[in-house]
Amino acid sequence: MTTTGPIVLVVEDETPMRRFLRTALTAQDYRVLEAASGREALGMATTHNPEVILLDLGLPDGDGIDLAREIREWSRVPIIVISARGREDDKVAALDAGADDYLTKPFGVNELLARLRVALRHAAHSGAADDSEVLEQGPVRIDQPRRQVTVEGRDVHLTPIEYRLLVLMARNAGRVLTHRQILKEVWGPSHADQTHYLRVFMAQLRRKIEADPACPRLVVTEPGVGYRMRED
Ligand code: CA
Repeated sequence: MTTTGPIVLVVEDETPMRRFLRTALTAQDYRVLEAASGREALGMATTHNPEVILLDLGLPDGDGIDLAREIREWSRVPIIVISARGREDDKVAALDAGADDYLTKPFGVNELLARLRVALRHAAHSGAADDSEVLEQGPVRIDQPRRQVTVEGRDVHLTPIEYRLLVLMARNAGRVLTHRQILKEVWGPSHADQTHYLRVFMAQLRRKIEADPACPRLVVTEPGVGYRMRED
């Protein structure tokens, strides 16, 4: 264990997977703590203050979703869920329970490192959203004080809902947001289940900002889960 990088708590009961994560992360100067069960993870999370947690959902002593919810009661540490392919419901439940993102097994080292960087950066900037900044993400530029949006320098006129949707995605660039999270933020808590609103407005927004709305590159669909604005 080096003494420089961020502390990552790896919660995973499969030894080969844990070994892969340890090797990949220590090579990048992360300090790695390992837990093979939820109980062990909770102990380590309280005593070692990890800066980010990688959390497998299928643990021998319970569900990772419950563990995420429990940790969220007292900590804002970013949690990235590690989940098997095809378990969209689990991913959504984990994200709605307070996890920040997910990785689908099998994943590559670059994808893992990218997700960790995003999670750590958002943790560093957590707190009140800043309405006075100019948000830039790839070709998209959002001048919040002027409420002006340009894509590749071209003015784009957005309705208030489309604007809020784009600002939310840009503030969370690199992270997945669930349908529920987006609906609550943009339309309010009473609309959290109105997924069709979101589909309609996302389609409208894409027609205005994407070069090819049928094949979006800026705000991509995470099937069965939600949307993610790509990072630069
Ligand atoms: Ca497992």
